[in-house]
Amino acid sequence: MLTSERYAAIAEQVAEACKQAGRNPEEVTIVAVSKTVGPAEVASAIEGGARDFGENRPDQLMVKADQFTDSTWHFIGNIQSRRIRDIVGRATLIHSLFEERHARKIDDVAREHGIVQDALIEVNVSGEHSKSGLAPADVRAMLDYCGGLQNLRICGLMTMAPLGDMQAARQAFEGLRELRDSLQSDYPDVRELSMGMTDDWPIAIEEGATIVRIGRAIFSDL
Ligand SMILES: *Cc1c(COP(=O)(O)O)cnc(C)c1O
Repeated sequence: MLTSERYAAIAEQVAEACKQAGRNPEEVTIVAVSKTVGPAEVASAIEGGARDFGENRPDQLMVKADQFTDSTWHFIGNIQSRRIRDIVGRATLIHSLFEERHARKIDDVAREHGIVQDALIEVNVSGEHSKSGLAPADVRAMLDYCGGLQNLRICGLMTMAPLGDMQAARQAFEGLRELRDSLQSDYPDVRELSMGMTDDWPIAIEEGATIVRIGRAIFSDL
């Protein structure tokens, strides 16, 4: 199958899963995670209807975002201070923010560019040591800190579920949704839930994901 066909098939499955869950498909954005492929595959996904793409390396984000300027680019990888300049502005949404010092630097660079940078707070819901992100109990303090930064807007939360255990994945997604709901009255901008990848996106949609990040199901034959 061509990448364009795989993307179109996934988009249809996502829309169907939304309907099954009683949700409007327009509430869910598919981020096509193109970190393992080159420009030809990105172009093919665009042909299949893809609008949003995700990258986890700043250098790849730079190359692809600067080439495909009509697409929306997301940064989903580990943030390093010295690469923040390459990310701010290029990424419409940064999914993986959890350190105050990075928030401060993103805010500084965004101010220089005269923009407000949108970002999500990465939360380690499952508490696995191998995972990055804030403990749920620390998210409020981070939101308060970011609230003092004029050129950074936190518009939601992101998590990575434990791999290979669908019950644990559901718990993590449910936990992220409950956390978002508990923050809504004090932080009305915190709406988005970025959760769900190739192996677990149907569960994430049932649990309220507004953004799913799908790589292998679009860009490989599995
Ligand atoms: C690679 C990656 C994905 C996509 O994973 P697949 O299993 O290929 O769908 C999603 N989110 C993050 C943060 C990633 O690094």
